[in-house]
Amino acid sequence: MREHCLVNPGQTVRLADWDANDTCGVASKAEAEKELKRLNKELARLQELLYAEDKHRLLIVLQAMGTGGKDGVIKQVMRGVNPQGCLVHNFKVPTPEELAHDFLWRINQRVPPRRYITIFNRSHYEDVLVVRVHNLVPESVWRPRYEQMNQFEKLLGETETTILKFYLHITKDEQKRRLEARRDTPHKQWKFSLGDVKERAYWDDYMRAYEEALTQCSTPWAPWYIIPANKKWFRDLSVARIIVETLERLDMRYPEPEPGIEQAVVPD
Ligand code: AMP
Ligand code: MG
Repeated sequence: MREHCLVNPGQTVRLADWDANDTCGVASKAEAEKELKRLNKELARLQELLYAEDKHRLLIVLQAMGTGGKDGVIKQVMRGVNPQGCLVHNFKVPTPEELAHDFLWRINQRVPPRRYITIFNRSHYEDVLVVRVHNLVPESVWRPRYEQMNQFEKLLGETETTILKFYLHITKDEQKRRLEARRDTPHKQWKFSLGDVKERAYWDDYMRAYEEALTQCSTPWAPWYIIPANKKWFRDLSVARIIVETLERLDMRYPEPEPGIEQAVVPD
């Protein structure tokens, strides 16, 4: 599944070639949900180990079109993880203060400290997505950002930060269904955003911008994964699998206990 979703460094991404309905051989929703429960427990165990070892940092970047499932992934995949070890940041339209700095300034303040899992709900990639689609800055400004982001992520990678970037890939039809469901379901209406409807008109421009970001910025130290996300159960399962496998590969160890604890007397 990991290999299937991975954008190999140097690979040119054409999103039309990536099937948003793919389930990589997972037979059913029931099977996926059962495995996700097991992975939730495993992730909770690994997060505790990450915290205890106090050596690594894990950064998870989530990007998607409106209704793509960023919030859903956070809710379903992180279920069971100790909230004390997990930080979530939503990046909104930059404030005047943020705009007065370079585009990575606000990002750099939010990268994970040692022993934490940090999730970015949107990220520095907005600066080559919405910014590019709406010409918020000239191309001479956004074009160099791919390489600037690669270098920034390289620095993080060289300082014990493991980076996973997920693009939740849905089709335009699926977005329409989800927007209509939000519009028509009372307890979902609060999530309905006219902004999402407006951005939908720029779908093709966004796809082009995503394709370029995915092509230019999947690196050995910060790979992009394209997650087929039309089926929510498959989306959650594949993200959970990749996170768990990544943490397992860190080969983390509990720290040695303080010397002499065997003889320590715990007073009455
Ligand atoms: P949401 O998180 O869906 O409520 O919306 C956040 C909004 O902020 C989205 O419309 C993003 O496109 C926008 N946004 C995030 N980062 C940037 C950025 N760097 N420049 C412009 N707009 C941004
Ligand atoms: Mg949102």
